[in-house]
Order: sequence, then structure tokens, then C-alpha cells
Amino acid sequence: MRTNRPQGAAQSAPPLRVVRVNGRAVARLKAGHVWVYRSDVAAAEGIEPGALVAVTDQRGRHLGTAFYSTSSQIAIRMMAPGPVPDLPALLRERLRKAVAYREGRVQDSNAYRLVFSEADFLPGLIVDRYNDVLAMQIHTQAMDGEPVRAAILSELTELLRPAGIVERVDPRVRELEQLPPRESGLLYGTQSSTQFSMNGVRFFFDAQGGQKTGAYLDQRENYRVAAEYAHGTALDVFCYQGGFALHVARSAAKVTGVDSSRPALEVAEKNALLNQREIEWIEANAFDLLRDYSAAGKRYHTIVLDPPAFAKSKSSLETALRGYKELNLRALKMLCPGGFLITCSCSYHVSEEDFLGTVVAAALDARRSIRLVEKRGQSRDHPIVPSVPETAYLKCLIINVIY
Ligand code: SAH
Repeated sequence: MRTNRPQGAAQSAPPLRVVRVNGRAVARLKAGHVWVYRSDVAAAEGIEPGALVAVTDQRGRHLGTAFYSTSSQIAIRMMAPGPVPDLPALLRERLRKAVAYREGRVQDSNAYRLVFSEADFLPGLIVDRYNDVLAMQIHTQAMDGEPVRAAILSELTELLRPAGIVERVDPRVRELEQLPPRESGLLYGTQSSTQFSMNGVRFFFDAQGGQKTGAYLDQRENYRVAAEYAHGTALDVFCYQGGFALHVARSAAKVTGVDSSRPALEVAEKNALLNQREIEWIEANAFDLLRDYSAAGKRYHTIVLDPPAFAKSKSSLETALRGYKELNLRALKMLCPGGFLITCSCSYHVSEEDFLGTVVAAALDARRSIRLVEKRGQSRDHPIVPSVPETAYLKCLIINVIY
């Protein structure tokens, strides 16, 4: 996060507003985190939304330069330990590094996350690449500012020459950040839909259509690995547009995908046709279907569970764990000896330890003997900053049922 600017350049920049933070925030920053919560900030009146500010401790000692939000509970997101004399230049440099990091590290795929917010030292910015179309999402006041947007767009265009850059607006985030409402849409170029490939499997991408656009790029490496374990009859529960199902179909004889969203299954079927695969898609509530199927004594050799985040906050942790237990219990009951369970949790608030504990408890209740063959996480295009635990959220356990 160091800026290699000469001190002289800093002196010519207009002075930044100073924001003082308390001891708790200082300890957090010293431990390598990049956020300061509003409750740890001394009164900071009259600061423009999204302004770059100088952060100091109570005694006025400089801690770094940060983005300020006037509305988010995360008031401060650190940008650099020193001065930032030229913000657009710093953003461009970080974008170049983010793109360069993925080059050569993402194999056999033209869809992956190009910019992962804090993990690329670009807090509040997400950019995903789907072949020749880029999808961008802005989460903070600072990243929404016009000069910042202009710098991001021009650098992405120069670096990647995409056919289109689409903004995917999350209205809830804009509301939380008190930003004016904005429509999703094309920011650059002419193209907002395309086809992309992951591990040799092809998918449709349409940024404008459907309910939720895009793919779960964080599962890319887990898809490939799931196909290595899959065999026999396979069930992909919470299949969305078929990410796991289409990969697993390489090695399993018969694949069924289950999701409650009809639009997602319609894309899943188009994706299956694109790959010349025959997959059965079932529109159902996964909890009901698993309960009915396990009660009916159905058996599978491979089951994937990839539900949405059950724990959106710390307070819902217990309910979330009950949900995971129920799903994993039903799935384990249905697995044949020698079968594999690929079970995921994308809830940040559920730790790997808690998740594994829940799966073990489910296996005991289901009277199945299991072994853990792989503990996996996000694909490497979603790197983790260990001192910012929020950057690690995906758990993917591969469980082998012995008997
Ligand atoms: N495995 C997918 C991603 C799953 S995202 C992939 O790799 O692409 C979670 C999915 O769960 C969404 O598609 C959502 O429509 C579906 N979903 C949410 N609640 C559900 C429920 N109760 N029953 C079935 N599907 C559900």
C-alpha cells in the first residue's frame, strides 16, 4: 500500500481534512485492518461524502490517508499509510496491479474477478471480467465520485479494450451510502451480453437480463475440483445457472440441478444446450426437496450444496447453522458409500470451524462415517487479506462418505 511519491508532490496537493480516531481504531489499524467504524471516529463535521481524508490518532499523529463515508457504519477505509498526492494516478496503478496479478494465475477461463475491493486495495470497487464484457459494482461514496469513476473507466478501457463495461447497481448499497439512485447499464462500449468459458465449460452472460446477473466466479476452482470427485448420479442443490452441475456432468453419469429460481434454471438449460449436456433441472425449495427425497430413500453418488448466505449478520448465526445442519444431514443420508459431498457456505459470519463442526454433527445424526478430503475457499482471483478477515468468506468442504 506504499506510495512512492516524492514528498514535494504531496506539498502541492490541497490539504486534506483531518479525521481523528480513538485508541480502539488505532489498534485495529496497527493490526493491519483498513476500516474504522463510525463509533471510533471523533466528530467529523462538514466533510464531503467520499472525500479523501488524513487520519490521525487522538494526539494528532498521522496514521494514513483514507476514503471517508458520511453515512456508512464503516466511516473510514484506508488507502495508503502516507500521503496520496494524486488519487487518480494511485487508482490507475492499483488497477494495473490487480489486472497483472490475475494474468497467468487464472487458467483455462476468461471469466474471473479482476478487482476484489479491499483485497486489491481498492476498497468499495468490484470488477468482474466475463470474456470481453466487464461488470463493475461500486459500494462506497468515494468510488462513486465522478473523477474516480472517470479514472477507473479510462484505465480499464486502456488495459483490457473490452467490448462493453456494464455497471451493476445494488440499490440497497446506494441507499445505505446515501447515494442518488442510479440505473444499471452500459458505461462504455456497445456490448452487455456475451459467452464466457470456465475450465472449458461455456456459459451465457447477460448483464442486462435476468434477476441477478453474472456468475459465482469465486467457485471457479471448486467447480473444477468437484468434477474430479463426481461420479455416478449427481445432485446439484442451489444450482443457479448450473455452475457445478455443468462441471460435474463431465464425470457423473446423470446430473440433476435444483433451484427455486425459474429464471436461473432457464439460463441453466441454455447453458446445458451450449455444452451439449443433458441435465435435469428441478424448480423447488431445496429444503422441501431434500426432506422428501431422503424420506423416499433416494440415493446419489455425488451431492453439491451451495446455498445462499444464511448468516447475513452475527445475530443470525444460530439460525444459519441450523439451516446448514438440516441440508447437510439430508444430503449425507442420501449419499452412497464411497460418495462425495461438496458442501459450501458463503456466510462470512460462519467460520470454517463452525461449518465443519456442523457437517460433522450432521454426519453423526445421519449415522454416516465420513472423512474430510479437502478444505477449500475462494478462487485465487478473490485473494484474502489475512488482517482483513472480511475478505475471506467462502468455505467449500469435500467430504467422502465411507459407509
Ligand atoms: N451454486 C451456484 C450458486 C448458488 S447461489 C453456482 O455455482 O453458480 C444460491 C442459489 O440458491 C440461487 O440461485 C437462489 O435462487 C437459490 N435459492 C435460494 N433459496 C433457495 C431455496 N430455498 N431452495 C432452492 N434454491 C434456493
